[in-house]
Amino acid sequence: MQTRILLIGAKGRMGQAIQAEAAKQACCIVAACDVGDDPAENVTDCDAIIDFSFHEATRSVAELAKSNGKPLVIGTTGHQADARAAIIASVEAVIPVVWAGNYSVGVNVLNFLTARAAAILQEGYDAEVLELHHNRKRDAPSGTAERLLEILRESRGLTAHDVRHGRAGIVGERPVQEIGAHAVRGGDIVGEHTVYFCGQGERIELTHRATDRRIFAQGALRAAVWAGKAKAGVYNMEDVLGLR
Ligand code: NAD
Repeated sequence: MQTRILLIGAKGRMGQAIQAEAAKQACCIVAACDVGDDPAENVTDCDAIIDFSFHEATRSVAELAKSNGKPLVIGTTGHQADARAAIIASVEAVIPVVWAGNYSVGVNVLNFLTARAAAILQEGYDAEVLELHHNRKRDAPSGTAERLLEILRESRGLTAHDVRHGRAGIVGERPVQEIGAHAVRGGDIVGEHTVYFCGQGERIELTHRATDRRIFAQGALRAAVWAGKAKAGVYNMEDVLGLR
């Protein structure tokens, strides 16, 4: 049976990719909404909502999903921590929500490998995250980089204050616990992420390169089908893929 999707952000790069992939993932798009459309008009006809619009829209999309009891897949990135926490608190007991900074299978394997490497390497290895994206991306660091930084922080018992976003000027020696985060923007780069573990005399680099938005669209549709069978709660793509 097909999963009927209400898509928000339909005219954007990701919205177009999701519409192109839907039929291949046993899904159909029952409503394709963008700026100016009212998604509430079609919400009763869908089995799940997918939102790849803009982070400021997430709150109202989540309320729409909650009030109609519909599973939700959130693709947008760039939320402040308190805004994200408030949305999670509002919906987690009511509907299944998949909220991932990156819906590609490969990036979720990168997350898994980063957690393993960080657990083994610990503080003798300086950790840094580098991300590259196209010149129209509006937020930095990327949601994927945020997740990689979170994995590194959790592994080392650090807080967000230990993350250094870029360096300029006389910054002094690198503190042992620091985690560097760097964003490159240019051209049509779909998305690249590297986690560095730099030791004395050796360096490990774990890299994922996305070359086609289809990978995110396929993952988001897979998440929507999965969410349709899940209990209320907030999940990420590692749950969908069984990587936890
Ligand atoms: P885009 O700018 O090409 O498309 C966004 C679309 O959303 C536009 O058509 C815009 O008109 C529409 N929109 C904006 N506000 C809206 C609103 N309030 N209601 C309805 N529609 C609205 O952007 P994109 O490259 O498609 O990316 C969209 C979002 O998805 C960004 O936040 C991006 O960072 C994120 N993204 C996430 C992943 C992932 O795997 N999680 C992958 C790629 C992009």
